[in-house]
Amino acid sequence: LHELLFADLGDRADRVALVDGSSGASLTYRQLAGAVDRLAAALAERGIGKGDVVGILSPNTPYYAVVFHGILRAGATATTINALYTADEVAHQLADAGAKMLFTVSVLLPNAAPGAEKAGVTDVVVLDQAEGYPNLTELLASTGPVPEVAVDPEDLAVLPYSSGTTGRAKGVMLTHRNLVANIVQCQPLLKVDGQTRILAVLPFFHIYGMQVLMNNGLYVGATVVTMPKFDLPEFLRVIQDHRTNRVYIAPPVAVALAKHPLVDQYDLSAIDTVFSGAAPLDVDLAAAVAKRLGCRVSQGYGMTEMSPVSHAIPDGRDDISVGTVGVIAPNMECRFVDPATGQDVGVGERGELWCRGPNVMKGYLNNPDATAVTLDDEGWLHTGDVGVIDENGLVSIVDRVKELIKYKGYQVPPAELEALLLTHEEIADAAVVGVRDEEGEEVPKAFVVRQPGSSLDAAGVMEFVAAQVAPHKKVRVVEFIEAIPKSASGKILRKDLRARENA
Ligand code: ATP
Ligand code: MG
Repeated sequence: LHELLFADLGDRADRVALVDGSSGASLTYRQLAGAVDRLAAALAERGIGKGDVVGILSPNTPYYAVVFHGILRAGATATTINALYTADEVAHQLADAGAKMLFTVSVLLPNAAPGAEKAGVTDVVVLDQAEGYPNLTELLASTGPVPEVAVDPEDLAVLPYSSGTTGRAKGVMLTHRNLVANIVQCQPLLKVDGQTRILAVLPFFHIYGMQVLMNNGLYVGATVVTMPKFDLPEFLRVIQDHRTNRVYIAPPVAVALAKHPLVDQYDLSAIDTVFSGAAPLDVDLAAAVAKRLGCRVSQGYGMTEMSPVSHAIPDGRDDISVGTVGVIAPNMECRFVDPATGQDVGVGERGELWCRGPNVMKGYLNNPDATAVTLDDEGWLHTGDVGVIDENGLVSIVDRVKELIKYKGYQVPPAELEALLLTHEEIADAAVVGVRDEEGEEVPKAFVVRQPGSSLDAAGVMEFVAAQVAPHKKVRVVEFIEAIPKSASGKILRKDLRARENA
């Protein structure tokens, strides 16, 4: 990966590679490449090299890229940790991944320090400054030689953890070949270049931020504008002040962009494309964003296990509906399979999406059972998602196999009902899960967040849905709540809603 991104900086050397959207601190490509070499030298002096794993627990900053690529440059593997994790979750990932060292930031020390201690990681370095801890600046002062490591394409580059939407997050073994393959595969799909200014609010610890925003951005010589977390006013200000033309989001941000009054108070005219991934994006919601911002809205699909992209609407193909996830990435194959029979279903029919290609993971770390059910002997990754392909090769993702609600033998995809609910003016946000009624029958239940001042009631919600769907898809129970639980990567945490239901 290092070779792909840094071997020849060419005319990008003095261009800004990354800039902190808040402080304005920035790194040019030359500075970035130099810092990566210095850090690799410092890591080698600390005994980190091939086969070692180093954790990164940090919000997005330009220095995230230095740490990430410095670790890989030293021949080691980076395990990127969710910045919202508790001390126990941090400890679990560090221990599971077998990490020897941890990079973090001062504000996260309350979780990072006990987490590292519990996992037996004693070498903790901060990216900024904290009393009693060595910091990145000190490491970058290393004058030692850049280690000469022969990285094999099959060596582990990263150990990201899946989002944990359906259960405990799994460590995903991605090799240098996997990462390089997916960056190259994305080229005909994502036509970003040296003129592109990418807004990077999606976290780099998650595969989408890591590969599509950071690594692909660096590969094409773009400028990546970082934000440490999502905060609507600050998000809008950064787009305005940094004139970012490409904004990568997950669907919850689309909800805010379509519905929040604040959006009209900022100059967002720099935006050329809003690109959504990570969870189902509704076509009407996408259209509302496109209209309000006067930009293109596009979509892609992927998963941690595929480094991550397998499908996207190629830039420039404005004829493709944003209700689809577009076409398959080059050098990949996909099938739609009836999970019950293992037989391929026909064009236009729903089946589990299976994918194969050079970007597919080696397996789950320390979890041969999960690997065996996900990755078969012929290299097909069973995504767990239900999809449909049309006669033009365009793919739509319906929902996760496991989230489908089984109502009287019919399958009801919650994502479809959520999208419909969001079209209601008085609904700010919504999530649907299957719950048991008195007869023990699974029925769709909607959790609804009302717009401020709305007096919408349960009957109103049920009637609104019933008027627009087949009878088996009707919402049969409604509960109003303050906020829908979502993961850091923008997914609805239906398991949390279910747990609340059973509590
Ligand atoms: P876990 O596997 O730990 O339960 P996760 O599957 O959410 O969590 P990720 O690898 O972050 O972890 O997400 C991949 C999943 O995200 C896909 O399997 C799919 O369900 C969903 N997804 C990604 N992009 C899209 C999209 N464009 N439309 C619909 N779903 C999407
Ligand atoms: Mg998954």
